[in-house]
Amino acid sequence: AGPTSDRSVAVIGLGRFGQSLALELMDEGAEVLGIDAREDIVQSLNGRLTHVVHADATDEAVLRQLSIPEFDRVVIAIGSDIQASILVTSLLLRFDIRKIWAKAVSDPHGLILEQLGIQHVIYPEKDMGRRVAHIVLGTMQDFI
Ligand code: ATP
Repeated sequence: AGPTSDRSVAVIGLGRFGQSLALELMDEGAEVLGIDAREDIVQSLNGRLTHVVHADATDEAVLRQLSIPEFDRVVIAIGSDIQASILVTSLLLRFDIRKIWAKAVSDPHGLILEQLGIQHVIYPEKDMGRRVAHIVLGTMQDFI
């Protein structure tokens, strides 16, 4: 399931945020490898992503088997399990992946991800709250 083009993205964690992201990437024509530890989630996305795999992403051997080190773009969409988020982040940084985005559930979580070396930390609720403020004020066009 390795990347076949520079439009390939791996999404690790397919909760509400990861799923929405992965499906939008598919709509935009990207090739998406989705990984989640929950069998039911993987089954529900089967056939809707280019590849979807049931696996524990904190396991380095698993990530290597899935050719994750060869991806240019990876999104870590694990949030509330901060330990898993940090373990996966640390592995991906060692793989030297060019672009990594990681979801944070709190400011301290985001700070840890930044300290580890993640340049693009996403705070879904916080970012969406700011965005909605501009929608409410009708100033969205300045904000996108
Ligand atoms: P969301 O708000 O996006 O729904 P959440 O906070 O409910 O996310 P998270 O803990 O952020 O849930 O996890 C998102 C997804 O990541 C879940 O579907 C979970 O099964 C998956 N996940 C958690 N740990 C791992 C892991 N070690 N390997 C693979 N997937 C994992």
